[in-house]
Amino acid sequence: MKNYIKADEWQIIEEGFDPKLNEISESLFSIGNGRMGQRANFEEAYSGKTLQGSYIAGVYYPDKTRVGWWKNGYPENFAKVLNAANWIGIDINIENEQLDLATCKVLEFKRVLNMRDGYLQRTFTAELKSGKQIKVNARRLCSIVDEEAGAIEYTITPVNFSGAITINSYIDGDIANKDSNYDEKFWDAVNSKVDNNQAYLTLRTKKTLYEVCTGVCTIVYQNGKPADVKYISTPKEKYTSTVVNVNANKSENITIYKYAVNVSSQNYKPEDLLSACTKVLNQVSTKGFDKMLAEQAEAWKEKWHENDIIIEGDVAAQQGIRFNIFQLNQTYTGKDDRLNIGPKGFTGEKYGGSTYWDTEAYCVPFYLATAPQQVTKNLLIYRYKQLDKAIENAQKLGFNDGAALYPMVTMNGEECHNEWEITFEEIHRNGAIAYAIYNYINYTGDAAYLNEYGLEVLVGIARFWAQRVNWSENQGKFVMLGVTGPNEYENNVNNNWYTSTIACWSMEYASETVNYVKTNTPEKYQQLIKKLNFNEADETSFWNHICKNMYFPKDETKNIFLQQDGFLDKEIIPVNDLNPAERPLNQNWSWDRILRSCYIKQADVLQGLYFFSDKFDEETLRSNYEFYEPLTVHESSLSPCVHAILAARLGREDDAYNFYLRTSRLDLDDYNNDTEDGLHITSMAGTWMSVVEGFAGMQVKNGKLSFSPFLPNQWKSYSFNITFRGALINVLVNTDGICLSNYSTHNLRVNVFDEHCDINSNAQIFVAHKVRV
Ligand code: BGC
Repeated sequence: MKNYIKADEWQIIEEGFDPKLNEISESLFSIGNGRMGQRANFEEAYSGKTLQGSYIAGVYYPDKTRVGWWKNGYPENFAKVLNAANWIGIDINIENEQLDLATCKVLEFKRVLNMRDGYLQRTFTAELKSGKQIKVNARRLCSIVDEEAGAIEYTITPVNFSGAITINSYIDGDIANKDSNYDEKFWDAVNSKVDNNQAYLTLRTKKTLYEVCTGVCTIVYQNGKPADVKYISTPKEKYTSTVVNVNANKSENITIYKYAVNVSSQNYKPEDLLSACTKVLNQVSTKGFDKMLAEQAEAWKEKWHENDIIIEGDVAAQQGIRFNIFQLNQTYTGKDDRLNIGPKGFTGEKYGGSTYWDTEAYCVPFYLATAPQQVTKNLLIYRYKQLDKAIENAQKLGFNDGAALYPMVTMNGEECHNEWEITFEEIHRNGAIAYAIYNYINYTGDAAYLNEYGLEVLVGIARFWAQRVNWSENQGKFVMLGVTGPNEYENNVNNNWYTSTIACWSMEYASETVNYVKTNTPEKYQQLIKKLNFNEADETSFWNHICKNMYFPKDETKNIFLQQDGFLDKEIIPVNDLNPAERPLNQNWSWDRILRSCYIKQADVLQGLYFFSDKFDEETLRSNYEFYEPLTVHESSLSPCVHAILAARLGREDDAYNFYLRTSRLDLDDYNNDTEDGLHITSMAGTWMSVVEGFAGMQVKNGKLSFSPFLPNQWKSYSFNITFRGALINVLVNTDGICLSNYSTHNLRVNVFDEHCDINSNAQIFVAHKVRV
């Protein structure tokens, strides 16, 4: 765990330069706008340890799979969001000495991520070997207004000398992915062009043939006025540079404005890319940095209005939650149903920027409550559009008749993952995709989604489960063999309770929705029957038959569901009794030892109890929580939030708070020692859930919002806005109770502590805290 980020409510602050922390900071200070994003690499040359990263949403490359023992059914490729052209580069050369913080003496250094206004700032003073001192103040943004553009303002001030400074503002397209399987580079050059102070580089990805045109415009100011300089721009195959020589006087400011635009063939015809890029580049460079920044701050103000969480009385917790919300908004804006949310967003290469079940299980609740309905709908449509590939994927594994198995990891619908115990066995992901449809309709009331898209997906998923179970003569029940649950520290187990539970739930929900569509839109239903070749009577009755006769492992004396058959044969020793030096287990124990142990990577039975808590009584929730949590090592970032929510539901307020702290500051404090690889973007939505679904106890039951809040002792109050079925609602929880304000034009009925409450339009209600007995 690290502790170098200064506490502040709206800013992430690093003071002093420690090269050992540089890659962690590059992740933490990342910026993005949903269309593109980048790690907080330096503009000037840096010869120290760094992970260069600049990414464009949806532009990926299918890297050829590399495995030791090829198993039939493995995918040929692993799709990766590519490290793209570096547009931030500004090399500074002072009388033949290069500015490079790895070789200079760094006298002062401060890096700030301004989350309120949405930009990154870095100020430092460096002393070169010659003794010359130079001060730099750099600000950079990825615009959420002009989404194809970014901009840099880079001011240099000679502190103790006057002399010639050479500035090289470049685009570098000769870029590699660190995680390339065969050390290949994935970009080919298409063309490059320069025009005075503008430079353009177009690159094309191998195989997928995405073209991206990057354009930059460099403008130098001296002492507040456009500098009287020549721009010498040179195009090369994968590199363009614009060089400017300035005679700098001591204490005089030289400011370099660098505007950059990335346009891709996802949105333009390849032959139009250059002109589209030029048009946007001219627009933003004419607008200017100050105006871009002002518009950025205004746009962020609106975003914060929709989804800020305000915590009073605990700056570290406030900073943590804002950081999570900020990064989620930088990663996904929901405007494009071809895009999704990679576990690391635009902050690193790990997980290839691809889509995991994280989106449905963790991110959907956040976007449902904090963004327009269409944003979540687009996440669901993304999977709808990939249904054919999910059917193909199931076929490859031997399933048929329209059974769909969504991939564990994907970019375009094809499976990318290639570890048999996950690719073939971690099939619970299919259930999360069905659950997200339920969650969306439950929250928004938009049941018409079923006719449009949802039912086809649900039928495909139910068909898969119906083929994946088998009848066991021995048990006299249906069983599900050879699976991996969310707890990946167990592989190839039989009857994982969570997987069987979500499988049956998916089949029951699919049956219900078949009825719904049949009753409400009979014509559409007839079309769907034909399209899906659906035999309603046989298929739904078989699904229901399975659900009635499914085997679920359980221990009656302990009143717990068994994570899988035989779980109680393990040696059960609580995590607290382990030697802390052996944690995290995945970095210290052999895999064999982990697999045989009782230790749980992340919520498994408890994941099911979180999704379906209304189906179980409090005693069952409690006995399972009390049995499984002490065995859980929380070595997935997705783990603490589910535990925070369940702990809150069980009145274990201190546990809930501790889990919250762990999830909200996971990256800021580098809990898992891996922030340098990138941020845990998808678990950030879990942090939001810990407050809203955990502390405030928000749920939607029968179309109504309900709350059962508590206030952690460490806080004075917390409040947040949510949007629910067209109404903007503010929720404030303080020491006295909960205050709900209805900012919509219609009256609302909600439940607070299980009592009905009406809130008139533009009015508020207050309910005092309830003492738990
Ligand atoms: C977790 C998975 C998750 C993946 C990506 C893994 O460590 O076990 O549940 O989908 O990370 O976040």
